[in-house]
Amino acid sequence: MRKIAILGSTGSIGTQTLSVAEEHGDLEIVALACGSNIKLMEEQMRRFKPKTVAVWKEEDAKALRENTRDLGIPVGSGMEGLIAVATMEEAEVLVTAIVGMLGIRPTIAAIQAGKTIALANKETLVTAGHLIMPLAEKNKVSILPVDSEHSAIFQSLQGNEGNRIQKILLTASGGPFRGKKKEELTDIRVEDALKHPNWSMGRKITIDSATLVNKGLEVMEARWLFGVELEQIEVVVHPQSVIHSAVEYEDGAVIAQLGTPDMRLPIQYALYYPKRRTLSGKRLDLFEIGNLTFEKPDMDTFQGLALALKAMKKGGNMTTIFNAANEKAVALFLERKIRFLEITEIIEAAMETCRFVPCPNVDEILATEQEVYEFIGSRW
Ligand code: NDP
Repeated sequence: MRKIAILGSTGSIGTQTLSVAEEHGDLEIVALACGSNIKLMEEQMRRFKPKTVAVWKEEDAKALRENTRDLGIPVGSGMEGLIAVATMEEAEVLVTAIVGMLGIRPTIAAIQAGKTIALANKETLVTAGHLIMPLAEKNKVSILPVDSEHSAIFQSLQGNEGNRIQKILLTASGGPFRGKKKEELTDIRVEDALKHPNWSMGRKITIDSATLVNKGLEVMEARWLFGVELEQIEVVVHPQSVIHSAVEYEDGAVIAQLGTPDMRLPIQYALYYPKRRTLSGKRLDLFEIGNLTFEKPDMDTFQGLALALKAMKKGGNMTTIFNAANEKAVALFLERKIRFLEITEIIEAAMETCRFVPCPNVDEILATEQEVYEFIGSRW
């Protein structure tokens, strides 16, 4: 039985990971961590009987310990608790399904402890890819992508070891506002932005899809995961989300992975890699779909992608500035404190103002995050 630990077990990716485990019955869930949803965590503890658990705040940990005293499962808290889950001795695979830069330290600790990483938490690579990838190589640890596009690229690379990648075709649905111009986006409500046309995901990533910031973060993630240059990654808007991404090789062959929009497939692929397993759910019916279409991204309207590419070109902590500013701006938008278009205005202001560090270590990355938060807090 493969033994799995999950950071962010109560979220969208976390719960789907548990549903994959439940469907097959041959994965053992040994450690779980979440933020504050102790009600769901208690249900998960009763159902999956992990050997250790963590939540963010000590007061929540206390309440959870009290409520689950009959189970006798240790409940940690804070960064220490997350790291204990990430490095839990028995675990072979760590699913990083936590949201935000909080994932950096536990992921580093897990790599140092030799765990295979099933990576959903893209912020880790976006901000610390220059530290994570060499560390994984040094420790001979595999980083298996969970993000659907990156899983598609990874699947398209199988059997092609040693062949040069010409180009990565990273597909994007275009989000709920595809085809609209900037002036049509001034009065977008939170409810509108949360309606993703194809995928059902957490709130933050759904807003990121509407601004195309998510695609920008994915370009950064792909660059680190697959060791290609920025110029080798082409974003292709493909509204049907059937082709999840593709790789073009030097002979012109394009190999892609297609499927229905179901995150359980990439999650399952990472959990059982290199094996494929049966998966319940709707199958791809090309006759039902009929047409597949492709467009270039509109980077004038959706500045999120343009700013991401600019941040990636600059390098250093600029991707952290981009990511932290977006996190804060999305939170403000979800709280209805700013308008939709202000999300990218805030990112741009932070990129112009915050201190640039060419090759940041983890402390400098986290200090940059704080600086960005303070900058935004003082202005918005
Ligand atoms: P959700 O918001 O649905 O879930 C986030 C998880 O992180 C929850 O379990 C949450 O716990 C936990 N968490 C939040 N704060 C803390 C904290 N301080 N300490 C410990 N745990 C915490 O996010 P998603 O599942 O949508 O996304 C997770 C990651 O995966 C993100 O990086 C996202 O970009 C990436 N991703 C997501 C995809 C998707 O389809 N959803 C697709 C590809 C990538 P609690 O519930 O208690 O708050």
